Parts: sequence; C-alpha cells; structure tokens
Amino acid sequence: MKVCVICKKELQPGIKAYPIVEDVIIRAIRSIKRSLSVVKNNDLYVCEADLPMHGKIRKSFERNMVIAAFASAVIFVLFIGTAILSARFDLLGIFSALFLCFCIFIIPLFWYVPSISEKTVEVTNNGGA
Ligand SMILES: [Zn+2]
Repeated sequence: MKVCVICKKELQPGIKAYPIVEDVIIRAIRSIKRSLSVVKNNDLYVCEADLPMHGKIRKSFERNMVIAAFASAVIFVLFIGTAILSARFDLLGIFSALFLCFCIFIIPLFWYVPSISEKTVEVTNNGGA
C-alpha cells in the first residue's frame, strides 16, 4: 500500500507524490517495527498537496536534531570537565553520561520526518497491498 506520511491516507492512482528517501533511520525504524511485528510494509510517500506541510515539519525536525545534538554534546563536555576537575573518573559515570547523551540525542527521532526525493512519481495501482 502506498501511503502519505503526512496525511496518512492511502494514495490513489494518478496522484502525484514524492517518494521518501529510504535512509538508515527509516530502515532502523522498519527493523524495530518488524521485530515487534507491527510492520505494515507500506511504501511511504508525501503527496503533492502535503509538500508545504512536509517542508515545514522537516525543517523543525532538523532544528530539533541540531538542538538535541548540541545539548547532548554540552552535557557530555560538562560531565567530562567535572570528572577531570574533581579527579573522579569512574567508568560507570562515563557510561551513564554517554547513555544520557544518547537518550537526549535520539528523542527527536521519535518524531522522525524523512526527507523526500526531489522528483515526483505518479502513483499507479499496481503496487499491491
Ligand atoms: Zn498527504
């Protein structure tokens, strides 16, 4: 089934849509879903009508990613700085700091907005369900 990731509607034949780019994150999300057996195996698109909407939420997603990356970097640097200054350098602390940074970094991925291909495709109904 071909679905628009913005309006979540099934794309009707003849409609123009932008295929999303199957990047490493999309593949990871798919494999997580597959292991939870909730994968729907849909082909993901953004329909032409939702293009401005996609651009908007993609931009805010990218901004959130930058903020999260920055925040986790700052926390890590602060943590390492404190550890060096106080001369307390325990492995468990480093791992918890890394884990905390990782958690902050991946939060925006729960609202992942995939990038889309630049050229439209016309949806045909031979994709199957
Ligand atoms: Zn749509």
